[in-house]
Amino acid sequence: MSGFLANKTGVILGVANKRSIAWACARALADQGMRLAFTYAGERLEKSVRSLAEEIEGSLVLPCDVTKPAEIDAAFERIGEEFGYLDTVVHAVAFAPREELQGDFYHTTKEGYMLSHEVSAYSLTAVARRSLALMEGRQGSIVTLTYIGSERVVENYNVMGIAKAALEASVRYLAADLGPRGIRVNAISAGPIRTLSASGVQGFSEILDHIAKKSPLKRNITAEEVGSVCSFLAGPMSSGITGTTIYVDAGFHVMGI
Ligand code: NAP
Repeated sequence: MSGFLANKTGVILGVANKRSIAWACARALADQGMRLAFTYAGERLEKSVRSLAEEIEGSLVLPCDVTKPAEIDAAFERIGEEFGYLDTVVHAVAFAPREELQGDFYHTTKEGYMLSHEVSAYSLTAVARRSLALMEGRQGSIVTLTYIGSERVVENYNVMGIAKAALEASVRYLAADLGPRGIRVNAISAGPIRTLSASGVQGFSEILDHIAKKSPLKRNITAEEVGSVCSFLAGPMSSGITGTTIYVDAGFHVMGI
């Protein structure tokens, strides 16, 4: 297979269906020759992830609910056995209970706060730790997905904004830890895209309309545009970039009123 990621391997966490940002990232990486492993959370998603993975030759499909340390261990062990090494991790996993993604933020429950942080923020560190032995010294790259609700108040995004702020801070700390070991860590701050998770945020259609009106490019972005940046961050052209957040949001983050 040719492409600037030929002979490289990667693992993609967070494919739910063909609309998932993780799937667009997977396509972009595979198009450049990367061999991929996919993980899914729970039996409910296994069939859908397996049928998508079949579209990419030589893929591996493994269970990995990021709230279960034993499943993360087992997934990375299998990846080590099958691939021998790892160059890229795409972390596109997030969750908050639906009732936390509406109304006033101050109603956030302790359970909702803890769960959203465990799945959406802590899991990056948990996964990075497991990938270290397979990635060390290979000029590898870890990429996660975030949203501007980490820095600005976005109505109804609520506790997920706090979790994304923790995720972005984790990117910086992990970049400092793992840089000397030849691993880069970055986040892509994507504009809103209609996916399964996004449908849990109340008023999501209005967010899309707002971006189409107010962003410099006067449109929304596509998952494929995120996938392209993911392949850039995985590849040699971004070798000097780590610890940063790259915006793929039609420029919306630069706007004031
Ligand atoms: P998606 O297709 O629903 O993907 C989210 C994935 O996270 C799903 O596969 C989901 O599985 C998985 N997940 C949830 N809990 C998990 C757990 N305990 N262990 C492992 N996986 C778990 O939605 P998406 O929009 O593509 O989201 C991907 C990433 O992009 C997320 O970090 C999201 O916050 C971020 N992002 C999205 C947007 C947007 O507008 N869509 C914008 C900026 C950033 P289940 O279906 O089983 O829960």
